[in-house]
Amino acid sequence: MIAEQIESRGVRNKRVLDAMRRVDRALFVPSNLVNEAYSDNALPIGRQQTISQPYIVALMTDLLDPQPGDRVLEIGCGTGYQTAILAGLAREVWSMDIIPELCESARERLGDLSYTNIHVLHGDGYLGLPSEAPFDKIMITAAPPVMPESLCQQLVADGRMILPVGVFDQDLIVIDMTGPGRWTQRKSIPVRFVPMVHHG
Ligand code: SAH
Repeated sequence: MIAEQIESRGVRNKRVLDAMRRVDRALFVPSNLVNEAYSDNALPIGRQQTISQPYIVALMTDLLDPQPGDRVLEIGCGTGYQTAILAGLAREVWSMDIIPELCESARERLGDLSYTNIHVLHGDGYLGLPSEAPFDKIMITAAPPVMPESLCQQLVADGRMILPVGVFDQDLIVIDMTGPGRWTQRKSIPVRFVPMVHHG
């Protein structure tokens, strides 16, 4: 999976590839889909949600560039696959999901895997997590129709956020803070994520 789907498409960051090798995607897909765990696709996880495609997880992790000292906020925990990869690269990860059942099962799964630097929280990602802000990095894994600018206030002065933006046509966007209330924005590739919804 790593060699054929990720390295071959240009993600060469060794730290990211190593972090991905340490997390078995089969542990994060529903039991009836285990034989598809290493396929080159997003897969359904119930509640009309998905586990992201491995390549997209790798690309977003590479673009976010989590450092060993970083405090990271993830919005859209799902089954916790991306969360586990971030936790292998950063100091501490907070991951929110708007569906309580997904939070409960992700918390249990990540606990069973002995992660001690992950906090799974039920809540609306549009609000972020002011009690733990500011974060060095924010990753959103559901697509808002427009970039939620208020979340930029929960980043450190030189923080970075990566997210898909759009309704039908979505692009992966990288936001780099350049000072209080100021940022630059660049487009990566077109993507397809589930919508980031209001009020779960
Ligand atoms: N990061 C996951 C992808 C999960 S899919 C992975 O590694 O595979 C996106 C998730 O975003 C879903 O679980 C959905 O419930 C959640 N979501 C959608 N809108 C949200 C919101 N406003 N706040 C928090 N989570 C949200």
